[in-house]
Amino acid sequence: MTQEKFFWADQIADRIIKEKGNKKEYVCASGITPSGTVHIGNFREVITTELVVRALQDKGKKVRFIYSWDDYDRFRKVPVGIDKKYENYIGMPLSKVPSPFKKSQSYAEHFEKEFETSLVKVGINPEFIRQSEMNKKCKYASLIKVIIDKRIEIVKILNKYRKEPLKKDWMPVKVYCEKCGNDFTRIINAEGYFIEYECKCGFKDKIDYRKKGLVKVPWRIDWPMRWKYEEVDFEPGGADHSAAGGSFDTAKEIIKKIFDYEVPLYYVYSWIKIKGGKDFSSSEGNALSLDEVEEVYEPEVLRYLFVGTRPNKEFQISFDNDIIKIYEDYDVLEKKYYEGQANPQEKRIYELSQVNKPAKKRLKKTGFRHLITSVQLKKEKELNKESQVRAKKVARWIEKYAGEDMKFEVQTKVSARLEGKEKETMKELKKSLESRDFNEKELLDEFYMICEKIGMKNTEFFDAAYRVIIGKSKGPRLASLILTIGKDKIIKLLEQIK
Ligand SMILES: [Zn+2]
Repeated sequence: MTQEKFFWADQIADRIIKEKGNKKEYVCASGITPSGTVHIGNFREVITTELVVRALQDKGKKVRFIYSWDDYDRFRKVPVGIDKKYENYIGMPLSKVPSPFKKSQSYAEHFEKEFETSLVKVGINPEFIRQSEMNKKCKYASLIKVIIDKRIEIVKILNKYRKEPLKKDWMPVKVYCEKCGNDFTRIINAEGYFIEYECKCGFKDKIDYRKKGLVKVPWRIDWPMRWKYEEVDFEPGGADHSAAGGSFDTAKEIIKKIFDYEVPLYYVYSWIKIKGGKDFSSSEGNALSLDEVEEVYEPEVLRYLFVGTRPNKEFQISFDNDIIKIYEDYDVLEKKYYEGQANPQEKRIYELSQVNKPAKKRLKKTGFRHLITSVQLKKEKELNKESQVRAKKVARWIEKYAGEDMKFEVQTKVSARLEGKEKETMKELKKSLESRDFNEKELLDEFYMICEKIGMKNTEFFDAAYRVIIGKSKGPRLASLILTIGKDKIIKLLEQIK
């Protein structure tokens, strides 16, 4: 985290106000095509928007936060894991393709609902706009007329960035056939609000697109059209749209020249990486969904990762043992915040990491590392309510991602073979535990005293203790482990060493 005078989302909010002027309401947008599970990389877009929305609101501004589901886009290909028969639906709008899963109305709706449910959990509640519904209601008819009227100009703009120029008769709109639902259609004539088309299936018609929502505008034109329609002031975009000659380059020309409107403030966000667990890539069908991330990350800790890194910087979400450090960092920040030790930057990061406003008093939670032990000892009931919620994430993490060194089972019988000195130290440990109560720090000091007394290396002592207690050479921090298991049980185990 860099030390800046202002926090990044506040800086963007300031720029929006400066560039767009004082408005009654600012519009911040985000969106995606629900062609499959929305992966965690795309989540970065919506949380970037949401943080800017919060920053604007904290400045007393009114904001409309919209999320567009591009479910009127065509079904392009059958993703991995979906029945091959779905090839029959290629060319239809995603909103018309049946759901491959139970409970959902359509293919698009399944993925929309999945993501919407996960968003609520991290405190993100935009106004969702379904493009299929907007088109059904013919909302864009007057803008579509502008597109058709100015098609020669549009082709000129698009051709500047194309290796192979579009043909002169190229149409900047597509029609979904009313009869078969596919977009394997050809426009014969377009005049005013009327389009005459024919389909591969043999169907032919002339429609008034103010009455029949069958027209689809391709992405590069659709994007600026919606900036105009919704009067968008801010929208982040991924690196894919932001490359030279990419859809942002053409969109910013189209919005000015075709729709006579200003370009929204744009911010490029970088992809994120997944460390440990499975690699993520949406095209391979092994995308990690927000829901899967939420299984092991608390909403606040997940938000903290995104809040704490400028959107244009890459970072990784860890699923290996590094997750412990991420939780610890968050807990340190929280402690600082409530003790009044956080600097302005840290204070802001903490505030925006919260699903709602920060609680008045700190709700103290047991650390992730300690919970790894508690969970495996099935001691969750001894925890407070907040820690029990965290313990569920830890349990899921142990089950799915934890390294072998983090997993253990407490022994009831000593199976470890011990050498002379090892036996001696274990007997000393038993004596110590019987003599008095220890806290974690005191017990750790006691280990070193025992080693010194017997003349044994610390590492050898730990190795022996772990083998006795959990049957392997490595495990969670020994002092904490012993105290969590309970010294009586450990004493019983050590008694077996003769
Ligand atoms: Zn047809």
